[in-house]
Amino acid sequence: MKYPLITIYKSLYRAFGPQHWWPARTKFEIIVGAILTQQTTWKNVERAIKNLRKNHLLTIEGLANTPLKKIEELVQPAGYYRQKSKHLKEVSAYLLNHYQGNLKNFFKKGTKNSREELLALRGVGKETADSIFLYAGGKRIFVIDAYTRRVLSRLGLLQASDYDRIRMFFEDNLPREIKVYQEFHALLVKLGKDFCKKKPLCKLCPLNRLCLSQLK
Ligand code: SF4
Repeated sequence: MKYPLITIYKSLYRAFGPQHWWPARTKFEIIVGAILTQQTTWKNVERAIKNLRKNHLLTIEGLANTPLKKIEELVQPAGYYRQKSKHLKEVSAYLLNHYQGNLKNFFKKGTKNSREELLALRGVGKETADSIFLYAGGKRIFVIDAYTRRVLSRLGLLQASDYDRIRMFFEDNLPREIKVYQEFHALLVKLGKDFCKKKPLCKLCPLNRLCLSQLK
């Protein structure tokens, strides 16, 4: 590798500071946010979460036992609200029925098995499942999203397109520290949103000295 991932991490951390991810009051709220954030902005997710909180529905039992129509009404600001409401209800019902609604029981199983269980549920793809494990479960698993792929590709470090191979690239080349995983993913999102956009702002980017595309 031309420069280690940890160098990129340190440059981003120096530039942006801690990102305090995931922004949530409870582990279950992280799960709800991870499902709602698909294909929308975080601002819209916050509006939906606020509605659920106001209605005391940010609990496993609450969402599992509330009629779909009511959930749809509340999560509408997050977009794709019909599918997302179904997914929220199904995941909550699964956790309630199989783990008595106790997230500690769910997360104390091996990550490999519980990840497969989550992935078998509708509305939970790999990025969503891994966000849940990293931020709600405190498990050492890296999250790959579109920002991460774009930054890695522009840095000349993207060796594969397969989700799990990219994830393992991070996991094999970073210190085995959950805090670093959590912070690094959040920093890459910030970089992708503010600098490494579709039209990148390379002159202002904290990685411009490292970035191979600058040498072209
Ligand atoms: S220097 Fe440009 S291309 Fe490279 S990471 Fe920064 S914004 Fe993206």
